[in-house]
Amino acid sequence: MISITNIQPLNYKVSRSNKGKSLNAYYFLPANHNVKNFNKHAAVDLIRFAGKSISRTDIAEALDLSRAGVSIIINDLIDNKIILETYSRTTPSGRPPVVLELNPKAGMVAGIDMGASHLSAALGDFSARILKEIEHPFKIADGPEKCIDDANQILNELLERQGIGIKDLSAIGVSVPGPVITDAGMVMAPPIMPGWDRFPIRDTLEKRWSVPVTINNDADLGAMGEWAYGAGRNEINLAFIKVGSGIGAGFIINQQIFVGSTGSAGEIGHLTIEKNGPLCSCGNYGCLEAFASGKAIELQAQKLVESGKRTLLTEIKERPISVLDVANAARSGDLEAQEILNRAGTFIGIALAGLINMFNPSVVIIGGGVAEVGDLITAPIRKMVKERSLRASEHAVKITTAMLGRRSTLIGAMVQANSLAIHNMVEGKSPLSRVVYTLPNNEKEVVLTGH
Ligand SMILES: [Zn+2]
Repeated sequence: MISITNIQPLNYKVSRSNKGKSLNAYYFLPANHNVKNFNKHAAVDLIRFAGKSISRTDIAEALDLSRAGVSIIINDLIDNKIILETYSRTTPSGRPPVVLELNPKAGMVAGIDMGASHLSAALGDFSARILKEIEHPFKIADGPEKCIDDANQILNELLERQGIGIKDLSAIGVSVPGPVITDAGMVMAPPIMPGWDRFPIRDTLEKRWSVPVTINNDADLGAMGEWAYGAGRNEINLAFIKVGSGIGAGFIINQQIFVGSTGSAGEIGHLTIEKNGPLCSCGNYGCLEAFASGKAIELQAQKLVESGKRTLLTEIKERPISVLDVANAARSGDLEAQEILNRAGTFIGIALAGLINMFNPSVVIIGGGVAEVGDLITAPIRKMVKERSLRASEHAVKITTAMLGRRSTLIGAMVQANSLAIHNMVEGKSPLSRVVYTLPNNEKEVVLTGH
């Protein structure tokens, strides 16, 4: 039994210097994996995330291994059906070179995105290709028991539609809108998840489903999804900002998710924009989220209608008035609706300018439901970033919207599930074995499982 007293990062990294340039290999490795298999794990992730055809020679070079050394690793991965050897399809003429690919059919995973007001779930293969998808209204504020029951019901409905059972899944990736302590599989002091503080989410789900489960924060998974298969492919440093009911950011730094010491890095929604501003869900006043989140936009629209000012929004009978209603009114020339979105974008832009100055990312990806409004909100964001970030950082950064649209987080959850399943296969270990773990600043030791 191993005892770990600090939090393991979400991903481990093997970094090697090769011919003067530093090459990184990235992989998810639960704490109880064997370090002897480093190169095998690293080779799998090089193949998964290369974004292009990759050969045995490329892997030998990246990992600084001999041809014979690479052969042992690759042959083993092929024998275990984790990867495939195939001919490159991109060579225009002549004999196509032999390249390596992940075997997408080696297993199936599920991704579950528990949002503030909806739950999306999908089944996917090992390359995170969605096979079936479902979305249901859902309330994270209902607390863990009710939410887990709901998630279970929706997952079963999805499995039924696909004609498979839960035992056919290799792993399940779950997203929650709060700060996650990855290794403990729980959230710590989440502002919009009443009743969930330190509830053993991962262990409860694994017990119910008997499938390995990984839990991560929604914005972190959005960053992961966009980095693996979206607008941030092959980027070294990127920031993903999710503007939905709330606002959060996820960072990929040196191609690793950066979660901070207790999982709450990227809580940009609770950055104070105005000392005496409106009350926020976290208990403070004047947070970005209280000005510019989907919820804040809906509230401002409601107040606008109540004020009696001239606006197209008075014609909308359904309550609450949605962000989409505000966007439609703005597009029809409603100046008041335009002003609500412009102000939200301006505040987000101010926060992003600060983030860009601090982290100097190459890409900032704007995702979440509110981002789908498009230019009405992204134009003021870009304007503020241009005006307020330092020129060196501003010149280097590309601001873009999420390529995966509403699915950034869901795909990210599948990427994490795939990482867990694939690296467990590489290790050939019992997927549910766990270590003893102690929470930081908490004397009580949490035993997850003991084998
Ligand atoms: Zn706040």
